[in-house]
Amino acid sequence: MGARILIVEDEEPLALLLRYNLEAEGYEVETVARGDEADTRLREAPPDLVVLDWMLPGLSGIELCRRLRARPESKALPIIMLTARGEESERVRGLATGADDYIVKPFSVPELIARVRALLRRASPERVADVLAHGDIELDREKKRVSRAGREVELGPTEYRLLEFLMERPGRVFSREQLLDGVWGSEVYIDERTVDVHVGRLRKALNRGREADPIRTVRGAGYALDDRFGRSAA
Ligand code: CA
Repeated sequence: MGARILIVEDEEPLALLLRYNLEAEGYEVETVARGDEADTRLREAPPDLVVLDWMLPGLSGIELCRRLRARPESKALPIIMLTARGEESERVRGLATGADDYIVKPFSVPELIARVRALLRRASPERVADVLAHGDIELDREKKRVSRAGREVELGPTEYRLLEFLMERPGRVFSREQLLDGVWGSEVYIDERTVDVHVGRLRKALNRGREADPIRTVRGAGYALDDRFGRSAA
């Protein structure tokens, strides 16, 4: 599954150009033209990376960046800021703290793609690793095998994908709808309660006896792979 990128840019031709090129690289891309709409969208469906224009209608890129950094769930979200010439230098350095990278317009598309790739790799090495590990749980993508504390864990294909999805993004809370999108795909119509059923099966397969539950249920929000689990067991 390609990383999900949200482009927030009010210059439509540029937004389309970026979308086209990033999709060609295998990313899943969404575009939004207004800062305030982006804020809403980011709460609904957090992407893996944001390309954020500085000057936007509704809410400026800087303000949006500040808000994202203030919320625990998007504190570490990779952000690349786009600025026009003249907005750069001191203002960028002073105000754009919080963005991981910034790029001055006009820029070349390959340059932006290279920055996106580098930032995603830095932000989540999990995406490219063959073996994901979290606490005493290991998921081997090549062999499609999961183990916990050295013993093999038998999982159905859906539970496997669900665990892989969560292990790629440890600590992040996903709503049932987001999990349906990410694990089952957005074209499939499935009742959200199905997610609970599969989370239940995944837990049953993973947890033996008094072992800690790696999956956290967040009331009213959804599920996450427990960050603390990974740390304490590692
Ligand atoms: Ca703009």
